[in-house]
Amino acid sequence: MKALEHPYQNLDQGQWLKGNLHTHSNHSDGVLSHQAMVDLYAARGYDFLAFTDHDRLTDESRYALLDRRGLILIPGNEITAGGPHLLHLNAQRLVRPIPQRQAVIDHARHERSMVIVNHPNQGAAFDHCPMMLMRQWMGFVGIEIYNGICGVNRGSPYAMNKWDMVLADGHRVWGLATDDAHDATDVGRGWVMALARERDLDGVMDALIEGRFYASTGVLIRSIEVHGMTIRVEAPNAQRIVAVATGGKRVAVADGPRIELVVPDRVRYVRLECWGAGETFAWTQPFFVGRAVLA
Ligand SMILES: [Zn+2]
Ligand SMILES: [Zn+2]
Repeated sequence: MKALEHPYQNLDQGQWLKGNLHTHSNHSDGVLSHQAMVDLYAARGYDFLAFTDHDRLTDESRYALLDRRGLILIPGNEITAGGPHLLHLNAQRLVRPIPQRQAVIDHARHERSMVIVNHPNQGAAFDHCPMMLMRQWMGFVGIEIYNGICGVNRGSPYAMNKWDMVLADGHRVWGLATDDAHDATDVGRGWVMALARERDLDGVMDALIEGRFYASTGVLIRSIEVHGMTIRVEAPNAQRIVAVATGGKRVAVADGPRIELVVPDRVRYVRLECWGAGETFAWTQPFFVGRAVLA
């Protein structure tokens, strides 16, 4: 007997909050001040924001000096020197960026902290973070499957290919979309929608760590329902919804804003991509095929 293991339980409890988890300021190579970035995100209706300057921690001691404009501000930094970049969210301390990235990940992990692999396909060789490393590392929670500024630099802003390879190996990691904002023009390229049980830092972090969120560059997901091995997703502004399974295999496609599928046998997971107008998407987290727990 099989069952789906997934993070989208009890979606009627809590509220969907919008956030960007990868933001630079003039404390590293960003252009604007913390306050100017807070003002921009608040004006666009965001609920939470993490500053992630390169090897520079921004935490509550700094946030206390800002006008938060209603935003939940998450302590963070981008672990940069010495190897592939790693986002350290709800960071409790600044982690020394040594080349041994597994040791960095181990040191960065903490209750309600999370480590995310940044822009895996950045660079002319699309290899900022090679698969070999992602296959070896343990303890990272997610991957940037969309990074806004990689779309204007070399490489690809997308990394669903590496996400599918990591998932096919059996790692349970979440997919995120972020702006990687360095300037005002980067605001609003990619974000996450998290279902927080409480509208505070712990509520957002619990949703992110548990995977109760989806990534978006413009498509909104209205509902996700699971009954046995059947998944139903509705995304009002999607024009096509594609179900992707182990190894990137497409197992169902529906034109229009909704899909219903029965997860086929012999796949390890299924995830849904909702394609909207132009270059807009929403990505659900994977629904893992596991063994049903008998009552
Ligand atoms: Zn980076
Ligand atoms: Zn960055």
